[in-house]
Amino acid sequence: MPKNIPTEMYISKNAIAENPEHLTAAKRAFIVTGKHGAKASGALSDVTAVLDGAGIPYSVFDGVTENPSVGSAYRAGNEARAFGADTVIGIGGGSAIDAAKAIAAFAENELAFPEDIFDPALCVNLPLPVIAVPTTAGTGSEANPYSILSVDSARKKRTFKSPYSYPISALVDYRYTRSLGRDYSVSCALDALAHGIESFLSPKSTPYSEDAALEAASEIWKVLFCGEDGEGETDVGGFTEIQRERLMRASNLAGCAIAVTGTGFPHPLGYNLTMEKGVPHGRACGAFEGEYIRLNISIPEGAKKLERLFCAAGASAEEMIKRIPEMAEVHFELTDDEIADFVSRTENAANYANSPYVISRSEMVSMYRKLFPDNS
Ligand code: NAP
Ligand code: FE
Repeated sequence: MPKNIPTEMYISKNAIAENPEHLTAAKRAFIVTGKHGAKASGALSDVTAVLDGAGIPYSVFDGVTENPSVGSAYRAGNEARAFGADTVIGIGGGSAIDAAKAIAAFAENELAFPEDIFDPALCVNLPLPVIAVPTTAGTGSEANPYSILSVDSARKKRTFKSPYSYPISALVDYRYTRSLGRDYSVSCALDALAHGIESFLSPKSTPYSEDAALEAASEIWKVLFCGEDGEGETDVGGFTEIQRERLMRASNLAGCAIAVTGTGFPHPLGYNLTMEKGVPHGRACGAFEGEYIRLNISIPEGAKKLERLFCAAGASAEEMIKRIPEMAEVHFELTDDEIADFVSRTENAANYANSPYVISRSEMVSMYRKLFPDNS
């Protein structure tokens, strides 16, 4: 079990069937999902089979959408309270699990307004316990306290986190990712790779987080870019079972690593692409990952660390700088006005100071300009 992470994690094929006691500890469960993934993966029926078998009442809220908004979590929190839930079970990708964390907090803070969730002084009661069942291998949300929420009014993302917003347990079965198509699977893997690389370079790293981040990043590189273990029967996403298992373990490790360190500048810069251009989160981060490596390698502290990453992954700097954004495949044009707007929305994020190379506002502008030229 990783140090510093309070979540009890069970990572195995049949994680739910082997650990039903986590679900059956609930008296009334509020299940949080999107419309499709929880059902398509089989995870929802595995959870409800355990609850039904134990006679535990539950209510299913399946209204989570991608990049969930704080307003929708607030409304679902009211539903969870009205149901009398004592446990929230988040089943799905990062969107569903992040939403579950916020819903658990709103359920116990009846007097809070939606954006109060970002202020610990206004959302004082401890959240309901959350059990996480991931169906994507990307965010590692099951292993960390972050709940990334869209703030409708400002068209941006903010992070709710507290020492109590970690899931109490995570039941992690890689087989649930086998129903995820190619595009989202690649995007999720790029997100986990970004977590691994950005955590590894963070000045907040600990020996534990460094090991976890390094292993996660090199595993994902080997599976996604080198095609290791790709021989044999593949699923709808084009991955073999063993590749899915490796990606799930790596994404979980990267999730543990960012719980310690947070992420670097590709994340806030990428949020703008997600919010304004609809680019899935992992691809949006991947678009900036080459520049992130290139800048960090330009100073001795970053270069020294990155050398360890290249060695562990069996890749060269040039390969990573070129191939990660290529795989992200984010292509469109941005006007100067759009770039100025993007930068002003995320220029105060804490992530910029979270790597050896700290980018300036003007470098943010030139990075958007370089990656998304205006050909008009
Ligand atoms: P997601 O938004 O949770 O899911 C992407 C899509 O895949 C959805 O349409 C979802 O459908 C579908 N889906 C999920 N699992 C599936 C499965 N097994 N089979 C078929 N379809 C499936 O994607 P994500 O990349 O996992 O999460 C992204 C969110 O997490 C963003 O809001 C991002 O900001 C946040 N995030 C959180 C952290 C963290 O540490 N907490 C870190 C990075 C990013 P349904 O919605 O209909 O189920
Ligand atoms: Fe991420």
